[in-house]
Amino acid sequence: MSRVLIVGAGLTGSLCACLLRRNMDNKVHIVVWDKARGSGGRMCTSRPPDSQCQSADIGAQYITATHEYAQSHHSLYTELVSAGVLRPLDCVVEGLRHQEGSQNYVAPLGMSSVVKHFLCESGADLFLEHHVTGLYRRGASWEVHRKHGASERFDSVILTMPVPQILQLQGDLPQLLSVQQREQLEAVMYSSRFALALFFPPGVDIKVPWAVRYYNNQGDNSECICYATVEHRKRGTEGHAPLGPTLVVHSSAPFGLQHLEEEKEEVEPVVLREVYRLLPNLPQPISIKCHKWRYSQVLTSVADCPGHMTVLERPLLVCSGDAFSHSNFDGCVESAVSVLAAFKAGSQLAT
Ligand SMILES: Cc1cc2nc3c(=O)[nH]c(=O)nc-3n(C[C@H](O)[C@H](O)[C@H](O)COP(=O)(O)OP(=O)(O)OC[C@H]3O[C@@H](n4cnc5c(N)ncnc54)[C@H](O)[C@@H]3O)c2cc1C
Repeated sequence: MSRVLIVGAGLTGSLCACLLRRNMDNKVHIVVWDKARGSGGRMCTSRPPDSQCQSADIGAQYITATHEYAQSHHSLYTELVSAGVLRPLDCVVEGLRHQEGSQNYVAPLGMSSVVKHFLCESGADLFLEHHVTGLYRRGASWEVHRKHGASERFDSVILTMPVPQILQLQGDLPQLLSVQQREQLEAVMYSSRFALALFFPPGVDIKVPWAVRYYNNQGDNSECICYATVEHRKRGTEGHAPLGPTLVVHSSAPFGLQHLEEEKEEVEPVVLREVYRLLPNLPQPISIKCHKWRYSQVLTSVADCPGHMTVLERPLLVCSGDAFSHSNFDGCVESAVSVLAAFKAGSQLAT
């Protein structure tokens, strides 16, 4: 049985694991490593400070299926809706330009439940706090090194982390990349932004008329904040367990870029002041969490490399993720589907 390592337990990694399991059946032993303490990557759901508060989606907020993707990825959407992981977004959204023919979906249990669904379906062995530092070719396999732990050997490796993090890996990867591949990877650009989650105690009412609100394209412009949401209203879980509400705000990309090299502790009060300027009647939160997304959404994807980049065919080493398509659910699906095709082609070569 071939041992496959997927680096990254975000959406692309979880989809790669699931598609490999469904298409390669018992021919593969799938292992997923992620450096974080939880799965989800940029679709993570942050735990509340205590069990009385609502969790917070500090990265991706909801999924928009265009008419075309609703058709081409129909089976995945149907699967997620039937499993109760997704449901149509049905709340007051202010300031969003609706895309004709598209359908928005929310995850009632938080966006990380989408990733967890596919990880669970894959039956992969998931290891968190496994930070990959280098890849070394050893004959027909890869020796994968990690921080604080023993290295391990795998027959194939699929990298799904943001491209700048791929380029930081030590070992044989840098030499294996052709000049053209390196240039393609180095040209990838991401937006950066800060996310702030404000957790309130049960019984508090956030007195705003919306569930989701986009700033910047309305009268009360903000150079700092571009998006705000009241989690339980967005997720459609109002009236469920009486949890304290949570407000999530995202900074604009220009603000994120301007403050990128500052510590999040320094930026938090700046964003918070702007939250209270925009929403002066907001009560005091019991806890605040600030997160810096250095690699938020892909602005320039990898040129001429739809879905993935094969660095080496045997032993297989591929780079994938939203940088090889676009930053949303369907972009990650496109990437994972193309990784599967590369994997199948590689397996046929081997037989
Ligand atoms: C603020 C924000 C808002 C967004 N809004 C939306 C939205 O509303 N709708 C939407 O569809 N998309 C949205 N996106 C985009 C979406 O979240 C991403 O396109 C998608 O999650 C990317 O998934 P991925 O698996 O390719 O990468 P990631 O989610 O980045 O996963 C990569 C994983 O690799 C791990 N990793 C990195 N380096 C290492 C290493 N050396 N060793 C081990 N593990 C490592 C990371 O911890 C991470 O878990 C948003 C993103 C952000 C940040």
